[in-house]
Amino acid sequence: METMETFKCLRCGHTFQDKYDAKVLKERSCPRCNSNSIRLMKQAKDK
Ligand SMILES: [Zn+2]
Repeated sequence: METMETFKCLRCGHTFQDKYDAKVLKERSCPRCNSNSIRLMKQAKDK
């Protein structure tokens, strides 16, 4: 299932939202600095 998740750029610290599907590996790049060091910010609701 595709959901909107928050991603954070490890290079410039910019955060943005994009669609995310755990079954699909998709390359992302930061819309601000174009780095591909992007981290998915997991929501803290399921521990
Ligand atoms: Zn960036």
